[in-house]
Amino acid sequence: MTSPSPHPGSPVPSRFPVVVVGAGPAGLTVGNILRAAGVDCLVLETESREFIERRPRAGVIEEWAVRGLERRGLAGRLLEEAERQSECEFRFDDRGYRFGYHELTGHHHWVYPQPLLVTDLVREYADVRGGEIRFGVRDVRLHDLDSDRPAVSYTDPYSGERHLVHCDFVAGCDGARGASRAALPDRALISRHDYGIGWLALLAEAPPSADCVLFGMHPEGFAGHMPRSPGLTRYYLQCPPGDDPDDWPHDRVWAALQQRLRAADRPPLKEGRLLEKRVLDMHNYVVEPMVFGRLFLAGDAAHLVAPIAAKGMNLALNDAFLLGDALVAYLAEGDPAGLDGYSETCLRRVWDYEEFSEWLSEIYHGTSHGDPYRAGTTLARLRRIFTSPAAAAAFAQQYLGTATAF
Ligand code: FAD
Repeated sequence: MTSPSPHPGSPVPSRFPVVVVGAGPAGLTVGNILRAAGVDCLVLETESREFIERRPRAGVIEEWAVRGLERRGLAGRLLEEAERQSECEFRFDDRGYRFGYHELTGHHHWVYPQPLLVTDLVREYADVRGGEIRFGVRDVRLHDLDSDRPAVSYTDPYSGERHLVHCDFVAGCDGARGASRAALPDRALISRHDYGIGWLALLAEAPPSADCVLFGMHPEGFAGHMPRSPGLTRYYLQCPPGDDPDDWPHDRVWAALQQRLRAADRPPLKEGRLLEKRVLDMHNYVVEPMVFGRLFLAGDAAHLVAPIAAKGMNLALNDAFLLGDALVAYLAEGDPAGLDGYSETCLRRVWDYEEFSEWLSEIYHGTSHGDPYRAGTTLARLRRIFTSPAAAAAFAQQYLGTATAF
C-alpha cells in the first residue's frame, strides 16, 4: 500500500512552524503557500508519492479555484492542458436538454483530473520550492493541541523509530479518516447527513460519449457521465448503499448506463474497459468549528460533501487558500485576523455547497424513488431550470460556485 519517503534516513528537524498532516489537494496547497512565503513546514503523508499521484477521484474544478491556484503559481500545467466546459446536459423522458452555463454567466467548469493536480502540487512543493515531506509515515498522532506548543508524532517507515515534531500550528488536511478527525475534542459539533443511497463510481477506459457532463434521471435510478480526458470517462450509477461492486460485472454496468443515459435524439454511449469500480455510500458531514486550539482543519478532514455536485475538492482548495494565507500573515507579519476568522469564513461556503448538493440530489434521485409525488416535484424543478431565466441563473451560479458572498 505504501512505500517510504524518497529521502530515507535523512534527518527531520524536530521543530517546524507548521506541520501539515496529509498530502491531498488541501495539504499540498497549504504547504506550497507557506513555502512561497519562506515559512518552513513539514508535510506528513501515510501513502507513497506514486500512490497519491495516481489515486483517481475528482475532475471538475471551478473557475475561482483555478484562478486561486494561478495567483499562487500553482496552475501552470492546468492552464495549458485542462479542458474548459461550457454546458451540461440533463437526460430525462428519453430526451437530452442542454444547459449552457457559460452563455449565462461567462464562466466555465475546468476538467483536470485530481491525480494530475496532486502531481503538480507535490512537484512544486518538494522539487521546486524545497519543502520537507515524508511519505509512508505510520501511526500519526497529534499532541497538546490546546497549548501553544503542539506536536505531531509519527513512525518512520524505514527505521521504525518514532519522531516527535514540535510546531506552532497543525494543519489537519488528512481527509475523512485521518489522524486529525481522530484527535477532535468532545466539543466538536459534527453534523451528518445520509442520503440513503449509493453510487457505483466507475472509471472507464473509453472516450467521452458527449462533449459535456451528462445527468441521466431515469425511473431505474440516476446515472452520470463526466469526461476526464480523450481516453477516460467517469461514470456513476445509483445503487443501494453498501452494494457489492462485484455484483456489477462489465455487461450489467454498460446495460444500466445505456438505459439510464439514453436519449432518442443522441447516439449510444461509447463503451470500454472498467478501470475502477467502487460503491460510495452517499453522505455528508460538517465539523464545527474548523479550529480547535492550534489545530486548523481543511478539506475533507473538516467537511465531506458527496460527489453529487463535484464540490469537495473545490471546498478543499478554498480552505487551503484561506489557511495558507492566514498562516503566512500571522507567522510573517503577526497579523491574526485571517486565523481568527478562518473557521467562520470557510463554513459559509461549506454550508452553501452542502445545501446545493442536497437540492441537486433531489433532482438526480427524485424520479427513481418510487414515490409519484417526489417524481412530480422533481420534474417540476427540472422544467423550471429550462423555462425560467431567474431559476436558470440561480442554478448556474450555484453549479459553478460563482457567488461573490456567502
Ligand atoms: P484527500 O484528497 O483525501 O487527501 C488527504 C490525504 O491525507 C491523503 O493523501 C491521505 O492518504 C492522507 N492521510 C490520511 N490519513 C492520514 C494520516 N493519519 N496521516 C497523514 N496523512 C494521512 N470534488 C470536486 O471538487 N470535484 C469533483 O469532480 C469530485 N469528484 C469526486 C469523485 C469521487 C469518486 C470522489 C471519491 C471524490 C470526488 N470529489 C470531487 C471530492 C474530492 O476528491 C475530495 O473532496 C478531495 O480529495 C479532498 O481533498 P483533501 O486534500 O481534503 O483530502
